[in-house]
Amino acid sequence: MENCIFCKIKDKKIPAEVIDETDNSLAFLDIMPINKGHVLVVPKDHYENLMETPDDVLKEIITEVKKIAQAVKSATGADGISVINRNRRATGQEVDHLHIHIVPRFSGDGLKPWHGGKYA
Ligand code: AMP
Ligand code: ZN
Repeated sequence: MENCIFCKIKDKKIPAEVIDETDNSLAFLDIMPINKGHVLVVPKDHYENLMETPDDVLKEIITEVKKIAQAVKSATGADGISVINRNRRATGQEVDHLHIHIVPRFSGDGLKPWHGGKYA
């Protein structure tokens, strides 16, 4: 995909702080971290979102997410890890190449959870 920023990172056309790589996935630092150590895990091939991604690729991605979450927790001393994925504009997805956010979290870091609703 010519204009996809994450495809360009995969093709080394633009720089990124790549921290790990598997056959079908790449992990690199988010350029605008929620907290320091915020990592994105993406498939090397271009799929717009989770629903478009083949199961075998997703299995590799989630295994990588677990490995990176452990590494980020250990490297940052985080109290916890948020794993976040947004699919399509309504959710705030800005880059249309599947990516899973791995965000180190600290007690009292001020990030607000969503407010739950109610069923009738
Ligand atoms: P989302 O809003 O869920 O689609 O997340 C897109 C993420 O990509 C944001 O957190 C951006 O900071 C991040 N991002 C955009 N461009 C780059 C880049 N060149 N290198 C690393 N992260 C990027
Ligand atoms: Zn792409």
